[in-house]
Amino acid sequence: MKSLLEIRKDLHRIPEPGFLEFKTQRYILDLISTFPQNHLEVHTWETGIYVKVIGRNPSKTIAYRTDMDGLPIVEETGYEFSSLHEGMMHACGHDLHMTIAIGLLSHFAQNPLDDHLLFIFQPAEEGPGGALPMRESELFRQLQPDMITALHIAPEYPVGTIAVKEGLLFANTSELFIDLIGKGGHAAYPHLSNDMVVAASHLVTQMQSIVSRNIDPLDSAVVTIGKITGGTKQNIIAEKARLEGTIRTLSPEAMEKVKKRIEALVEGISRGFECETVIDYGSNYRQVDNEPTLTREFMEFAKQQVNVFECKEAMTGEDYGYFLEKIPGFMFWLGVDTPYGLHHSKLKPQEEAIQHAVDLLVQYFIFKGNRN
Ligand SMILES: [Zn+2]
Ligand SMILES: [Zn+2]
Repeated sequence: MKSLLEIRKDLHRIPEPGFLEFKTQRYILDLISTFPQNHLEVHTWETGIYVKVIGRNPSKTIAYRTDMDGLPIVEETGYEFSSLHEGMMHACGHDLHMTIAIGLLSHFAQNPLDDHLLFIFQPAEEGPGGALPMRESELFRQLQPDMITALHIAPEYPVGTIAVKEGLLFANTSELFIDLIGKGGHAAYPHLSNDMVVAASHLVTQMQSIVSRNIDPLDSAVVTIGKITGGTKQNIIAEKARLEGTIRTLSPEAMEKVKKRIEALVEGISRGFECETVIDYGSNYRQVDNEPTLTREFMEFAKQQVNVFECKEAMTGEDYGYFLEKIPGFMFWLGVDTPYGLHHSKLKPQEEAIQHAVDLLVQYFIFKGNRN
């Protein structure tokens, strides 16, 4: 097999959007086909892959999940192995997550545990979301893991460290798209038209009251409108306007509440400005909620090998939360020490982190999956 660093470079060159990870899937399947096959069971699901390592004397199935997709970002790392796909980049470390899965898989294909291991290569983490449909698939029901683990690279932590906490790690997130449709017209005849720039402006202002007036101050939520578009020209009244944003909350209840308030405010705008409105929540991700007992046990175990920080929860989103909704487990941050954050065009994770993660998880899976 090629070295893990070479594999990571290969994967870095071919970032693909969600559910279009065809080359990535092919690359991984080809690699897996070079492993000893006698303990392996390989399934594909859409552009994703499941690989089960059959245990010698199984009583449970332990899963590791990696995401597979890249982002629509023009790469500026200067790497000699930069993206070959123009306008796409592995800017969230999913190339590292997959490489770590392959490192683990190559080890356990040769040295199976007592228990089954299940490697889940999941498409479309960045959108529209692969975790929920994957979890709901018939194949997943058959493979049904008893516990699940995953990691995400963390630019802000040094290599050789991990960060994790019991309970909530990542927020509930939802995209938000609101279309306002009125009636355009000449700028000098406002009484004959229905101006969506004015309606959109009111709506944006009104939505600022949701977090400040409707959410418990001891809970947390974010409603951000990051983009407004509307109109065609400076002297034409805008027929249409579109708001694009995101909602983040620390509880599913707060997410429900925020959405109810947005719907009420949009309804009010619709009546007040006599326009049509359409709300679309796009991709919705459930919170990542680390099961406390397994997480605490993992933290104690990991301390023997790496530095373990207890972190705070973050308002970022991860569709891995859908797996944790049904299967006990956890996600942790893997330190990769780089000045640029996730989704940045210059993100350059330190590649030594790959071997740290493989070593740690090999030992952890042996600890969890072997009886002696
Ligand atoms: Zn991301
Ligand atoms: Zn990511």
